[in-house]
Amino acid sequence: MASRVIPVEAFDLVVFGGTGDLARRKILPALFKRYCAGQMPGPSRLIGAARSEFTSDDYRDFVRPALKEFGEAEEGTSLEAFLNQIEYVTIDARGSTGWQELSTLLEGHDRIRAFYFSVGPGLFKDLAERLHGYRLVDPASRIVVEKPFGRDLETARALNKVLCRHFAEGQIYRIDHYLGKETVQNLMAVRFGNMLFEPLWNAQYIDHIQITVAETVGVGGRGAYYNKAGAMRDMMQNHLMQLLCLIAMEPPAQFEPDSVRDEKLKVIRALSSVEPHHIVRGQYTQGDGVQGFREDVDDPRSKTESFIALKCHLSNWRWASTPFYLRTGKRLKGRDSQITVVFKDAPHSIFGPDAGRHNNELTIQLQPNEGITLDVTIKEPGQGGMRLIDVPLDMSFAEALGPDADAPGAYERLIMDVIRGNQTLFMRDDEVEAAWAWTDPIIKGWEARGDVPKPYDSFTSGPDTAQQLMRRDGREWRGIDP
Ligand code: NAD
Repeated sequence: MASRVIPVEAFDLVVFGGTGDLARRKILPALFKRYCAGQMPGPSRLIGAARSEFTSDDYRDFVRPALKEFGEAEEGTSLEAFLNQIEYVTIDARGSTGWQELSTLLEGHDRIRAFYFSVGPGLFKDLAERLHGYRLVDPASRIVVEKPFGRDLETARALNKVLCRHFAEGQIYRIDHYLGKETVQNLMAVRFGNMLFEPLWNAQYIDHIQITVAETVGVGGRGAYYNKAGAMRDMMQNHLMQLLCLIAMEPPAQFEPDSVRDEKLKVIRALSSVEPHHIVRGQYTQGDGVQGFREDVDDPRSKTESFIALKCHLSNWRWASTPFYLRTGKRLKGRDSQITVVFKDAPHSIFGPDAGRHNNELTIQLQPNEGITLDVTIKEPGQGGMRLIDVPLDMSFAEALGPDADAPGAYERLIMDVIRGNQTLFMRDDEVEAAWAWTDPIIKGWEARGDVPKPYDSFTSGPDTAQQLMRRDGREWRGIDP
């Protein structure tokens, strides 16, 4: 099987915040990889735009080590040829510096313009206004907006309003890099490309679904931001909510942006409000050579959560009575993200009580190793009667697909989708607002009650109460792999 590279039209990608952490670690390496794969047509350019007073040559010197560190670049012709397609403008998102230069740079080039807002959210409005004011936007232009998209419903609405004043919704790409992951899209392929699963994909056959996004890292250098956000805003409202949508949505009529997003929106709108006793908030403490959360964010009285686990329900025919358990946190025992669909037990066991209880589980592993596993029940080999065991049918992409398993990373795919004009894997305005409408009352409830997160030891599975959330229902979280 040879990898297929679908060409895109020539483009200019302007990265506002081109000297920032995200640009260095993700955006620039992603584009370099697509360049090496032959997907960045000849005249295309990457234009870095940030406050640092760099010349284009300075910027290339800045980009070179980033590509070596994060883009697997080696010294040689590809690297130098790619760097030659890079320009830089010193720009002030809040002032007039650099805008005329950017305009001159873009002028007279008849190609797709994409503007990536890789700056703090406080600058989104300024950028949108200046792009419009300097007439840099034509009907084929696109903007890519990084998270966080607002911090509640009100701010998300205000931001949508500003962006929609200057751009059509079809030009706005709200990025959630989880949706660019190969396995996340495979989730749709598995569900809607096979006859096997969809007939069973409902409350009659599925006991519960659990989604875990566990990280070992703490808040790192993002303490000030994170202390104002917390796991609910930073992860649950966007990444976990999107995963929930894909696992629970109805089959869209076509695999097209609005058909898919319409179905995702219905899932978010079907979410019932969450009972306070169905939510566990936690905060990591110091240990094993690391600081605690409060030291990390430099706030000894912080009430912000670095961990959250909750149980929720969807009020619709397909899912009424199937609970969804969602959990995410920092400083947990492993970097492990997975969705597990736990099917119900067979209605009657013909093998007697000694055979034990067995059920099927479908696990979609998102990281570290993407793949899908289906646990099936078989007879334990050997003599001694009919003893049953569960064994995995393991579809590790690396093994099944060989070199083709080395699919483009999430940012590579999503940036190419922006250039192609495909919004399927990006969030629409109403989706983001609906997610905030569900999240807001939960956060407001904590604030009103002065809720304090439960401490948990770093590098564990989070607070014990998160285990109890499941055990009360006679269920268990799948282990977090260290
Ligand atoms: P950063 O602080 O490392 O970089 C900010 C960039 O913005 C710099 O290039 C800086 O020069 C530029 N900038 C700041 N003020 C400016 C101004 N007035 N005019 C022009 N440019 C200005 O931030 P980051 O970590 O790269 O994050 C960028 C965005 O991406 C943020 O919205 C962040 O929430 C989001 N994000 C970051 C990550 C990550 O891993 N770093 C992950 C997801 C989302």
